[in-house]
Amino acid sequence: MIIIPLPPQRLLIGGEWVEADDGQRLTTLSPSTEVELASLAAAGPEDVDRAVSAARQALESKAWRKLTARQRGRILWKIGDLVDGKYRDELATLETLDNGKPIFESKYVDIPSVANVFRYYAGWTDKVCGKTIPTDGPFLSYTLREPVGVVGAITAWNFPLLLSSWKIAPALCCGNTVVIKPAETASLTTLKLGEIALEAGLPPGCLNILTGAGEVAGAALVRHPGVDKIAFTGSGEVGRRIARTAADTFKRVSLELGGKSPNIVLADADFDAAVRGAINGLFYGKGEVCAAGSRLFLEDSIYDRFVEAITSRLPRFEPADPLHEATRMGAINSQAQLERVMKYVGVGKEEGAHLAYGGERASVGSGRGFFHRPTLFTEVRNEMRIAQEEIFGPVLAAIRVGSLEEALEQANQTRYGLAAAVWTRDIKKAHRAAQALRAGTIWINAYNFYDPAMPFGGFKESGFGRELGEAALEQYTETKSVYVSLR
Ligand code: NAD
Repeated sequence: MIIIPLPPQRLLIGGEWVEADDGQRLTTLSPSTEVELASLAAAGPEDVDRAVSAARQALESKAWRKLTARQRGRILWKIGDLVDGKYRDELATLETLDNGKPIFESKYVDIPSVANVFRYYAGWTDKVCGKTIPTDGPFLSYTLREPVGVVGAITAWNFPLLLSSWKIAPALCCGNTVVIKPAETASLTTLKLGEIALEAGLPPGCLNILTGAGEVAGAALVRHPGVDKIAFTGSGEVGRRIARTAADTFKRVSLELGGKSPNIVLADADFDAAVRGAINGLFYGKGEVCAAGSRLFLEDSIYDRFVEAITSRLPRFEPADPLHEATRMGAINSQAQLERVMKYVGVGKEEGAHLAYGGERASVGSGRGFFHRPTLFTEVRNEMRIAQEEIFGPVLAAIRVGSLEEALEQANQTRYGLAAAVWTRDIKKAHRAAQALRAGTIWINAYNFYDPAMPFGGFKESGFGRELGEAALEQYTETKSVYVSLR
């Protein structure tokens, strides 16, 4: 058993770790053992009010406003260095204990990626510029880019710290202050980040952390008139509710929602690379990835051979103890999520898809924990529910198509539009697909590749607004037009 110090299980408000006003707590389990992992303070509306006031005060404080852009950048850089330096192993272990993902992913992907996001936005602090603009009349006309103000961030549990960093880093880069509410079942690394940010010299109140229930703390944050913008990652259902509530106070809103992303493999593709891409595209992160390539479109002539190749490699993805470095599939994040996956396996069978691999809960070690076997359905039709509804688990649906055109048409027949991929050696087909696919991210001969410099976000019901890259700076600044009369 690995024993590591847990971060404070209290709320971070104005630089102080405090209990919830009404003393409520929320217990979390480790998904791989079902043993109690933490007892978190559960914030209520009073705490949201305190945190928003603290963020507003910090926004207007000398400590934050007097920092030059470069000084802000140095703090962000330092956070990045602490994340993948002094605290890398601790953060990676916490993420694995809390989320259930393999330590291999936490240590080598999530945590280094978080550090890179902070470093990337550290580089932007002194490059967020307005413009001088030629106008009629004797005027000097220019724009200023100012912080939006107090940002309320709400995140999902699948990449707990990474999703937090996608919001916190650009928000602080642009001079905003933040109140973040991480997901109920995976809050520990965000709490640890609160400690790290203070250690890096971020002034108190610039980052406030409220653990607690979505319908209570999250909803109060969205309603609060002192919040200027909500940055949300999560389900469409909650996203819709947030957009409606935010409209009452005309908050700026960005929504990163679900997906059912197509991964198209054509007959002329590099076969082995495409097989690896199809497997990693869905089974990486247990399929709990918003951009997971859950609909695998295979050209008819390679269909059987491709399915066979995937099936022969899936034993490598049978779940095991997430703390072992060799493990490639960990535990599903919660009982509720496991039940959702099992429900959809049942739906797939009822719909007449062929269960080619897996399809059941797995037993690992002591027999406790929310494990599910990697699952492959073949002979799936695009209109089936398992091809249209987000399962958010290790369930891959293979669909047979006759041509690229047919694949593109079916790929776009979805209410989502987060990501898509195409595998081919034909440069014309590749670019034609990139243009035709209605999704925010397209991979050609790759899957699940992300970079902090590239914008990420959805078309259609996958949300709106873009995170990462220069594009995110739009989300965290207001543009002010200044006319100076020269008469
Ligand atoms: P969820 O919508 O249930 O919860 C997300 C967050 O919203 C949590 O912090 C939750 O506490 C909070 N919340 C719940 N009800 C709320 C309310 N009424 N008001 C305010 N906040 C509330 O989603 P989840 O189950 O945590 O995450 C899975 C979903 O997230 C999937 O649909 C997945 O595709 C999506 N996701 C999208 C991206 C992306 O970048 N597009 C990334 C990761 C996950």
